[in-house]
Amino acid sequence: MSPSDDEARRLAERLERLKVGVVAHFYMDPEVQGLLIRASRFYPHIFISDSLVMAGRAVEMARAGGCRSVFVLGVDFMSENVAAMLKENDMGDVRVYRMDEAPIGCTLADAANSDEYRQYLSSPASRRAEEPAVHIVYINTSLRAKAQSDQLVPTITCTSSNVVRTVLQAFLQLPDNAHVYYGPDAYMGANVRELLTSLAELGDDAVAEIHEGHTASSVAACLPRFHYFQEGKCVIHEMFGSDVADVVAAEYADAYVTAHLEVPGEMFRLALLKSRTGFGAVGSTQTILDFINGKVDAAVAAMQEEKDGGGTLTAERIRVILGTEVGMLTSIVESVRDKLRDSGPVAAGIEVEIIIPVSSESVTSVEASGAGAGAGATTDEVLGGAVVLPGPSGGEGCSAEGGCAACPYMKMNTLAAVHRTLDLLEEESESASAHLAAQEPDAYAEDLGDGSESVAARGCRPIVRMQSFQAKGVFPDELVRTVSS
Ligand code: SF4
Repeated sequence: MSPSDDEARRLAERLERLKVGVVAHFYMDPEVQGLLIRASRFYPHIFISDSLVMAGRAVEMARAGGCRSVFVLGVDFMSENVAAMLKENDMGDVRVYRMDEAPIGCTLADAANSDEYRQYLSSPASRRAEEPAVHIVYINTSLRAKAQSDQLVPTITCTSSNVVRTVLQAFLQLPDNAHVYYGPDAYMGANVRELLTSLAELGDDAVAEIHEGHTASSVAACLPRFHYFQEGKCVIHEMFGSDVADVVAAEYADAYVTAHLEVPGEMFRLALLKSRTGFGAVGSTQTILDFINGKVDAAVAAMQEEKDGGGTLTAERIRVILGTEVGMLTSIVESVRDKLRDSGPVAAGIEVEIIIPVSSESVTSVEASGAGAGAGATTDEVLGGAVVLPGPSGGEGCSAEGGCAACPYMKMNTLAAVHRTLDLLEEESESASAHLAAQEPDAYAEDLGDGSESVAARGCRPIVRMQSFQAKGVFPDELVRTVSS
């Protein structure tokens, strides 16, 4: 996580010479993120974020920064979104490259490509004449899934940053009898329902903080018309199950608790409860990062006040449970380090401890490691007194089967792959072009079987609607008309 300036400068120079921009997701592994963050000091067109802003940054890099290619370090739906949005902004000639020739999948995105998902939407589709409906699709889906969904039920994209606001806006702006169908993340759907239920109980002021157009009673009235797909799961966030939540509640009572909207209900509930008293945060990766930064700022301000008042500075340790993919850690560490360094000596006593909880089945216990020695064997008989540290129970450390909450798909984006792709760009041979072509996202140039627009164009429509909602604070008229017609 502390790469040398030389290495970072070399990468920055190569990217600049070849006019390549880089957009990377927060879930990259520490080695990759660390180098990218350092290289961004020498070359501005490198950006790490959640999926909401990746495509927008790619468009800026191409438009204002003159980048002729964009490397997407993420999973395939992210590179598809980037390519589609470049095309949508008349920059279809900018090449987009994934970091592997093989598919870089996502269990959640796969769920929206399934027959079950089409069935989930076919029922509201058949009732649209009597019962208006909108489909809010999570950004973590392929362009094909977005396009096919929009054919069935008018669709707008959301991210974990704006899902709650999007759901509330739908109920505010669409006809009074409109239903909202969210998918494909089952946990996020359940958590949004839980959040809305909690808001309705907390009263008008709490509701107004999330959406100024609603009251507690209007939120309560929405709940019967909010539906979510029950089968889509992120293989990583699923690791934060009830046993993890139990351990966090029992052993880390003094820690702040954060939870991504994709985690199972028990962990989400714990963080949601803590958030009511300022001891937790629920939402997107950006929400979690902002929360931790806010706690560091508050600690620095308290130290400064103490110092100004002539008091003695005491040490402070900020303990945070990280309820999301472990790759987030790098951006947190970089951000906290910068803050503490910029705050000077007054921050010397502040420490931030990030605790990454993992499921007990994914960690080898002493008993489990001795299974081969026969039932009833004592630890000493099995191990001969050797000290064993717990570790991943299977697979690689950073795999779905392993012990840490690290996405195996995101980890396909290695530094070697970045350099190999730069080599291919430099090579300018037929073979290099063929390899590069295999790293481009699916263009989805075919139509949806009705002879009209391409899958790519139709799949972009829900994203463009979201961008319009983000920019103007209301759904575009075209979406409202389509839902109401
Ligand atoms: S962590 Fe991996 S599997 Fe989970 S939603 Fe993100 S890309 Fe998909």
